[in-house]
Amino acid sequence: MPELPEVERARRLIADEALHRRIVDVNDNDTFVARPHAPGQIKAALVGRELTAAHRRGKTMWLDTSGPDGLPESEPGPELGIHLGMSGSIIVITGDEWGEGGEPHWQGTWPRNPRWERFALEFADGGRLVLSDPRRLGRVRLNPDVGALGPDALEVSGEQFRDLIMKGRIAVKARLLDQSKISGVGNLLADEALWQAKLSPSAPVDTLTRAEVDRLYAALRATLEAAIASGGAHTGDVISARHEGARCPRCGAEMRHSVVGGRSTWWCSREQAPRRPARRRPAAPQAKTPKTPKTPKTRQTAKTAGRS
Ligand SMILES: [Zn+2]
Repeated sequence: MPELPEVERARRLIADEALHRRIVDVNDNDTFVARPHAPGQIKAALVGRELTAAHRRGKTMWLDTSGPDGLPESEPGPELGIHLGMSGSIIVITGDEWGEGGEPHWQGTWPRNPRWERFALEFADGGRLVLSDPRRLGRVRLNPDVGALGPDALEVSGEQFRDLIMKGRIAVKARLLDQSKISGVGNLLADEALWQAKLSPSAPVDTLTRAEVDRLYAALRATLEAAIASGGAHTGDVISARHEGARCPRCGAEMRHSVVGGRSTWWCSREQAPRRPARRRPAAPQAKTPKTPKTPKTRQTAKTAGRS
């Protein structure tokens, strides 16, 4: 699934290869991917214009367009929003060459199944920009609203990150996945960054020290930059150890698995051991109940966090 690094690669591809080429035709016939637009509506809005800039926040891209007939002095056109969904890639074709950014699974294979083509821009020079998306969960729309998204994970400052992460008592992984707080962190990136920072995914955010949050911030940035450079979130160091019976690639301890923040989560049993929730007030004296069998601490904490 394309996460921030894959979407950033798609954005860079568009910025490098698809700007300032006149749009002469648009395939916007897929009414599901182009909802709520009717077939022909995006085409009517874009033909004659050029893409002039490519932006991204989290996993959402939007492209600026020029005035009609590409005239720089006229009123700019609408923004074209593109979301790659669960399996989308952008392919830009120029003469005999093609470049791609997005879902890594099919990387390097071309041509792809023509039925996967959900949207396309045709350029006056004969080239094309294609959204290829087998699962058809991508989205293309005019003037997308990105206001509900938090700051982008690559652009958020350390201070902003602390403010956004530390409030409340939710599990830290669930907080990382909350796109309204910080946008662009998906399941694999969250597991990788928490493993790099040696923090339990189920740790309630109010148990993290400032130093731990700073460590997580540094780990997230390093994880993002490495993933952009190497082709995607699937290239992270701990990703190959996200399976039954795997050992931590750093210390060799057993990897553990549970659901945290609604998503399948893996962590190192030694370096990322679950922790107790922070005590808000001194605990009231409790009657001893020696007959109740003890639940192992680790499982109890992970399960509690998984529900939050
Ligand atoms: Zn380990």
